[in-house]
Amino acid sequence: MNFDPHAFKECFPLFAQPENRDLVYLDNAATTQKPEVVIGAIGDFYRHCNANTHRSSHRLARRATEMVERVRRQSAAFLNAASAREMIFCRGATEALNLLAYSLCSELRRGDEIVISTAEHHANIVPWQMMAQRHGLMLRYVPHVAGVPQFGRLDEVLNERTRIVSLAGGSNALGLRPDLADIGRQLRGHNLRWIVDGAQLAAHETVDVRAIGCDFFVCSAHKFYGPSGIGLLYGRESLLRNLPPWQGGGEMIARVDLYASEYAAPPHRFEAGTSPLAAIAGLGAALEFLTACDRAAIATHEQSLLSELHRDVAALAGLRLLSQPRDNLGIVAFALEQGSPTDLMHWLDEKEIAVRVGHHCAQPLIRAAGETVTLRASLAGYNTREDIEALLNALRDYQSFSGSAVDTPTLSLAGDWDGDDLSGLPVEQLAAQRSWQDRYREVMRWGRAIGRKPAIRRPENLVRGCESDAWLVHRQRGGRHYFALDSDSRIVKGLGALLLSQVDGHSAAEIRARDLAGLFAELGLEKHLSESRSNGFYALLQQVLEYAGRAGSA
Ligand code: PLP
Repeated sequence: MNFDPHAFKECFPLFAQPENRDLVYLDNAATTQKPEVVIGAIGDFYRHCNANTHRSSHRLARRATEMVERVRRQSAAFLNAASAREMIFCRGATEALNLLAYSLCSELRRGDEIVISTAEHHANIVPWQMMAQRHGLMLRYVPHVAGVPQFGRLDEVLNERTRIVSLAGGSNALGLRPDLADIGRQLRGHNLRWIVDGAQLAAHETVDVRAIGCDFFVCSAHKFYGPSGIGLLYGRESLLRNLPPWQGGGEMIARVDLYASEYAAPPHRFEAGTSPLAAIAGLGAALEFLTACDRAAIATHEQSLLSELHRDVAALAGLRLLSQPRDNLGIVAFALEQGSPTDLMHWLDEKEIAVRVGHHCAQPLIRAAGETVTLRASLAGYNTREDIEALLNALRDYQSFSGSAVDTPTLSLAGDWDGDDLSGLPVEQLAAQRSWQDRYREVMRWGRAIGRKPAIRRPENLVRGCESDAWLVHRQRGGRHYFALDSDSRIVKGLGALLLSQVDGHSAAEIRARDLAGLFAELGLEKHLSESRSNGFYALLQQVLEYAGRAGSA
């Protein structure tokens, strides 16, 4: 293998910027970074040949049109389509799937069936749900175990009413890459259209739509080092010829009369309006860039990092791995046995490690796996062994930091309750921490002072505006205000502890007189914490002031 990820990384100017020198970017399933050639091609388009295409014939327009049609031919080669007429430019995989759902379903009959899987991105679920509701169609799911589709049992949901099967060539939440050859075998002989959502697949493998044998294939350029706002829809020419358009407008017509129009032939029939021309130029550069790379070597490199990451994450206590290394396009997904995944994401962010926390636009899958959010690290060719080490070290560090926590007490808050004892939290201790990292750790440590309070975890106590759930209750005694807080997030608890240590047991006048936002800024928290975390502090502060104000100006 002669692939050097460090040399490859040098093609991507984002990593050379002073503020990104330490960046470990592991959010590639969301979008990849762009090589200089792609950035340059976008600028060059505007610098040298910006004009609208097809409509007029002056020199610039001809150049722009030639560029678009050249990139169309490159795109056909990229997916090994039989002809450039089979390639439609669209905004991305989402738009391509909406186009297919709209156009294919408008020709179906009530009761016809569409098969998708629980592992689909929302872009390959919601458009089908919308069309099923509109046309009285039936949605069926590939049998699954805890959300993981059993593609080998696809034929169990196929019948004579199945008209469409739309499945991802790779899951963006788990990386799971189904055996497309086996899916093709099961679909053979059925009168249906087979769509492959290749948004993740095209980023990691060389795609050959004719070898796959699918009818349609969709992908987004921004997942494979190209620009955002441009994607590809491949369709078998014989099918495109008979497919109704989904949007009307300029470019997609042969002739327009007062009450009816004649549509252009594919691919233009499906490209109403002005296309994102600069993005198409960027796509062309990305395709050239990829063609010049040894893609098999990049894939081998990614797979080697992936196995290492799986092996080492599996060995960490307190994490539950959801992905598996086999048949995986480059994603490690895991959940936390305890605590807030958002805290961990921010902890990693503090160390310049970019991963994603959330449902990854795959709610049915994440829910069926028994979670609401997961953490996802996703790989690209420029990731290095050092990146993986940095992530693993940061995870170990987090585990030992949070594992060392003394169990926080559980407070029942019955009757004339007392909240947490925050007397041992002098602000000076926070201010004394010299580096931001140390101060951040100290805030996290303060979070331990806030005990668990299951009784207050009720919708009416929820503080709006916090990124992680936080519950706050209040009571007044003898003109003094008392508060109690709970949250799953250690950092929210820490920030809450800071706030409550300043207001608990004080009168409304004293609380109002304190410049708490000023203190927050003075400690450097506003500057260093993410906006969402700062907003969480301000939301808590707002709620405290409201409680104190509402209770009168004692
Ligand atoms: N399908 C899959 C499997 C994806 O991973 C994504 C994006 O993450 C999409 C569809 C939607 O792609 P886009 O947002 O580029 O339209």
